[in-house]
Amino acid sequence: MARRVAVVTGSNKGIGLGVVRGLCKQFDGDVYLTARDEKRGTDAVAELQREGLSPKFHLLDISDHASIERLRDFLKQQYGGLDVLVNNAGIAYKNSSTASAAEQAENTMAVNFFANLNVCKTMFDILKPHARVVNVSSVAGLLQRLSNPEMKKKIASNEYNIPQLEQIAKQYVEDVKAGVHAEKGYPKSHYSMTKLLLTALSRVQARELQNRNQDIVLNACCPGYVSTDMSSHGGTKTIDEGADTLIYLALLPPNVNSPIGEFVENRKISDW
Ligand code: NDP
Repeated sequence: MARRVAVVTGSNKGIGLGVVRGLCKQFDGDVYLTARDEKRGTDAVAELQREGLSPKFHLLDISDHASIERLRDFLKQQYGGLDVLVNNAGIAYKNSSTASAAEQAENTMAVNFFANLNVCKTMFDILKPHARVVNVSSVAGLLQRLSNPEMKKKIASNEYNIPQLEQIAKQYVEDVKAGVHAEKGYPKSHYSMTKLLLTALSRVQARELQNRNQDIVLNACCPGYVSTDMSSHGGTKTIDEGADTLIYLALLPPNVNSPIGEFVENRKISDW
């Protein structure tokens, strides 16, 4: 049987690095630290090697379709597929950013929603039976932040399919560009909207993966408020503490009944 394999996106630093560290200790198989920059990635691998761990490295820029395909082809060839995928990579503009609202909305949606979706669309083809997928979302994207009643109702009742969620994401960026987003009841921050759609997407994806009847389980989660570059090190959790729920979801045992398609915080299913 082929060796098992886990991939963590955006894992040269922050919570992703903590997930790789934890998986190296607990996952029975190879663990890939991936990064969009080779030097940042190999430096991070060297850091974990100094701790006595043995992560492997592969380049992955989740915004580059060819880069995702290269990793998919490599995994298929070397391992016959993929056992664990942690979609951790994400971005957030600082409050002090001088970039226009349009630029912030477009770029944040492009990475946090569309690029993660593209990774899924590409990698889901090679998921092995019993695979575990973890989408790293945030409490910043809780449904309560949406005040558009119609959209809220539809999202809450799982009425949207993936193309419709993609359409909402595109429309959001268009509305920001047109300066009309405030009156449409979206969350106050672009980041929140991207994470809200990522959690909504996760529910649909989990259902679709369940339909394969191969015990493939996907959950979304929030790592908590973690001290990383993204939080300007204001977070109260260490990266290893932030990684805990992600690792728990990545290592859910075979034929688990719950959580499936949930939003999980501190290892507990949470309302979103
Ligand atoms: P960091 O900014 O510390 O790390 C983000 C990682 O994502 C980096 O490795 C970065 O790479 C990578 N990345 C960004 N864009 C891409 C891309 N296009 N392709 C590949 N990698 C990319 O953030 P955190 O560790 O704090 O965040 C990790 C996840 O957790 C994110 O999804 C975030 O939204 C979420 N989260 C974080 C919280 C917190 O308190 N920190 C709270 C809730 C959720 P590079 O170094 O090259 O920029």
